[in-house]
Amino acid sequence: MRCGVLALQGDWAAHAAVLRRLGVETTMVRTAADLAGVDALVLPGGESTAMLRLMEPDNLAEKIAQRVRNGLPVLATCAGVIVLATATKPSQPSLALLDVEVERNAYGRQVHSRVAAVELTDELGEPGRIEGVFIRAPRITRTGPGVTVLGRLGEDPVLVRQGGIIAATFHPELTDDDRVHRLLVDEEVGHGR
Ligand code: GLN
Repeated sequence: MRCGVLALQGDWAAHAAVLRRLGVETTMVRTAADLAGVDALVLPGGESTAMLRLMEPDNLAEKIAQRVRNGLPVLATCAGVIVLATATKPSQPSLALLDVEVERNAYGRQVHSRVAAVELTDELGEPGRIEGVFIRAPRITRTGPGVTVLGRLGEDPVLVRQGGIIAATFHPELTDDDRVHRLLVDEEVGHGR
């Protein structure tokens, strides 16, 4: 398995470090050619508008969308979730691959960014909580029927899955608990069977 990390902008290096720690062959994706060589993809946190703009030259957004529609497993975090969402508030272009509506920066300004305990469903095993680093995070305000919630902060879904897409509004790459990344690795391993 070779996992790609979209490395145009944002905290891609932290994701690459986690994947390497898990023993996964990891490569940075900046072009369509890079994308063609990967079996799974991470869309990191950063700034969704900047990320979308940087994808334009190689039409990378559409190429990623095609691969994902054909089953490429994806882990999206924070800005990456906004990029994949079907709808965003305020409205901006998105790939509409994950049936959620998100409100950008809904938990407030940078100073309101925080670490908070996310309550997990059984799928992630023990412990039933994970430390969530929320940095100007989007809030998921609607989930479609095909979306399973794997983690919540209070009432809000903050970790969800739809088919091969795993999406976290927090930053699992910034803590030592690698269970969210392992969901992606397991997804790819299952897929390759
Ligand atoms: N606020 C960013 C956005 O709207 C997301 C922040 C993040 O990825 N940490 O794109």
